[in-house]
Amino acid sequence: MLAPRSTVGSKGMSQVPSSQAVGTVYIVGSGPGALDLLTLRAARLIGEADAIVYDHLIAEGVLDLARPDAEKIYAGKQSSKHAVPQNELNRLLVRLARAGHNVVRLKGGDPFVFGRGGEEIETLVESGIPFEVVPGVTAAAGCAAYAGIPLTHREHAQAVAFATGHLKDGTINLDWPSLARPRLTVVFYMGVGGLAEICRQMIAHGLPPDHPAAVVQNGTTKRQRVLTADLATLPAKVEAAGIRSPALIIVGTVVRLQQKLSWFRPSSSHDFHREA
Ligand code: SAH
Repeated sequence: MLAPRSTVGSKGMSQVPSSQAVGTVYIVGSGPGALDLLTLRAARLIGEADAIVYDHLIAEGVLDLARPDAEKIYAGKQSSKHAVPQNELNRLLVRLARAGHNVVRLKGGDPFVFGRGGEEIETLVESGIPFEVVPGVTAAAGCAAYAGIPLTHREHAQAVAFATGHLKDGTINLDWPSLARPRLTVVFYMGVGGLAEICRQMIAHGLPPDHPAAVVQNGTTKRQRVLTADLATLPAKVEAAGIRSPALIIVGTVVRLQQKLSWFRPSSSHDFHREA
């Protein structure tokens, strides 16, 4: 499926200065979901790119910012389904740049937070391809803001940890004693499938069963859903509500603030939100 698409057609060549010129690869974070949480820099680069290689979880409508003649290549992965194997993808970026294209490698959130940005850049470095990295609002920051859960708070948490909750063979390989700590907020990415295991491990390593925990699904978008509970009850609540990926799990007493600080009403337009 990849072979014909990776041969970029002549329409994408319109702005290539000469056959020897090597393009630049921009590893760009598209933010957590809402289009207007994209950085100005990301928007400009997307608008100028000859080719855009994009993931599954990118901000809605972001590809509309691209030039109509830009090559758009889907490389996304949905959980265990990898659309394009990583090494093939790395080679694709090199090929596109060598063909003279300026490439935007568009990722959800921030490229350096569970985004494999580092792996892709290594191949670019080894191949002598110029690149830049454009940060994005990572899902933890976006979801926390839009759910009304501050990640740090002087009375609750002096530190925050981002962890992967990816379940492999029924387990999650994490340093649980360092995560099951008081006065720490832990944000689990990719953790919906492993939620029961996460809660079990956090309790087994010392947190009380009534330690607050929340799930934010489709954060920052009109489909955002927030559920708050505690480590003992969150898995059943999430299952009953039918929460699916993409969702983040936030563990910490900061979750208690949500009821008071929640402001985002996904059903209404939030740009000029004026609710009392
Ligand atoms: N690089 C991305 C993370 C990629 S891992 C970033 O910085 O945000 C993908 C995981 O991010 C998902 O499984 C989910 O846990 C989380 N995620 C991404 N977008 C999300 C959203 N809008 N709402 C909730 N979780 C989200």
